[in-house]
Amino acid sequence: MPKVRQLTIATKLMIWASALIIVFFATSTYLFKQVRQDAEISNRLVNVHHDLDSAIQRMLERLYSVQDNIRRYRLLGGDEQAVDFIVEDLTRFGEILNETLKKHPDHTEEWKTLTAEYEITLDPGETTDDNLTPNATVREWTDILEQSLFDNVADTEMVLTELHMAGKRASDIGLYGLIFCLLIGILGSLGLAWSLNRSLSEVQKGIRELGTGAPPRDVRILSKDELGELALAFNAMAARLRREERMRADFIAMLSHEIRTPLTSVRESVDLIESGAFGEVNEKQRKFLRIAEKESARLSNLLTRLLTVSRMESQELVLSMQPLDGQHLVASTLERLTPAAQAKDITLTSELSTPFTLEADQEHIRQVLINLVGNAIKFSPENTTVTVTGATTPDNATFCVRDNGPGIAEDEQKRVFHKYYREPEVRDSVDGAGLGLAISKRIVLAHGGRIWVDSVPGNGATFCFTLPIKPSKDTA
Ligand code: ADP
Repeated sequence: MPKVRQLTIATKLMIWASALIIVFFATSTYLFKQVRQDAEISNRLVNVHHDLDSAIQRMLERLYSVQDNIRRYRLLGGDEQAVDFIVEDLTRFGEILNETLKKHPDHTEEWKTLTAEYEITLDPGETTDDNLTPNATVREWTDILEQSLFDNVADTEMVLTELHMAGKRASDIGLYGLIFCLLIGILGSLGLAWSLNRSLSEVQKGIRELGTGAPPRDVRILSKDELGELALAFNAMAARLRREERMRADFIAMLSHEIRTPLTSVRESVDLIESGAFGEVNEKQRKFLRIAEKESARLSNLLTRLLTVSRMESQELVLSMQPLDGQHLVASTLERLTPAAQAKDITLTSELSTPFTLEADQEHIRQVLINLVGNAIKFSPENTTVTVTGATTPDNATFCVRDNGPGIAEDEQKRVFHKYYREPEVRDSVDGAGLGLAISKRIVLAHGGRIWVDSVPGNGATFCFTLPIKPSKDTA
């Protein structure tokens, strides 16, 4: 058996699960990195921008206070207390400036003027006036710090915007990742379920068909996994069954042919002896000659059926379609079987709704009706009635054969159409080979029709078949 397996079901599952894990992992990693980055940005906001902001504010407060006190000193014409305040504010300003520059050395260049002038300003002067920083200098410092404050606010806004953008990006990526995971999950499981189901139902269909007794056919190989191998194994089995069936059919055909020739000689010899060609035949001899004649006719009939089956198996059923009168078909069949019915005191009746004509192979359909009516006679008790009905719709013609025999149990009803099948109860008591219904089914199906049985055990059986009035071109 050639190998078809490329990807096993487990591998497909693994690939699908890996794709899911990769997308999930990538999204989570990205989100984790983003959260860390956001935390760093927030940290920067608090430790750098906020800290700088409050330091500048505090320095500005001191400088505004210095400006107020200079104004007060000048207004009052030299107020010692104002000078103390100025010195105190400037000292505090200097401390804050140094602390801030230690924490934020990148502002050293920006605040160079400030630090240089401040050191000069704090140099102890000779007079009180010497300790008064000129108002213009303080204003210049204030301007520098206000500019720094402004820049810091602008920076903070930038960082906040960056934080906002990063947050939005993270939420977008998280959402897309989630949607992607969901899509992979849903589409992956749907795809996998679909492909498994497709391959499995193909094999299931083949097995079911085999169960109905249809000739074994190959199933399509729809995947290259274990199920593909299963389909391949099924096809190998179907091929073997077909081979064996052909061998059996050939064997039966050969055997039938080999038996038919000597059987014909036997029948002719019996006929000759019975006709008195070789001298007078007494009653006892005639009785045994009749038995021999009946048995050889039975054998010949069996051989015909076996040959029909074997021909049908090798697709040799050729239909010769021609208009068929429903009424005539039923009447001629009943006429042909009247002797058999009379032997059991069975009444044969027919009920046909309206005269109708259909396209069918006359000989084959007659064979079907003969098989069904023949069975009905065979299985009916004496003094009963067998009824044949025929009805039509615009598309189909339906024939039914109703009897008052033992009927067929429900679980046997499908099996009776299988080749060589005979119900266990009748195997020993009633004559037959279990081929009539199989042949009938094959003929009806070849016409594009349907055959079935309705029966309540103990209440008789009704065998029906439907044929299309105008069969399609590809029939048979
Ligand atoms: P055969 O009659 O030669 O055995 P068939 O294929 O015609 O073969 O029938 C198969 C089996 O179906 C019979 O052996 C019998 O068990 C059952 N059967 C067929 N027709 C009837 C019927 N009218 N009533 C009851 N059982 C039937």
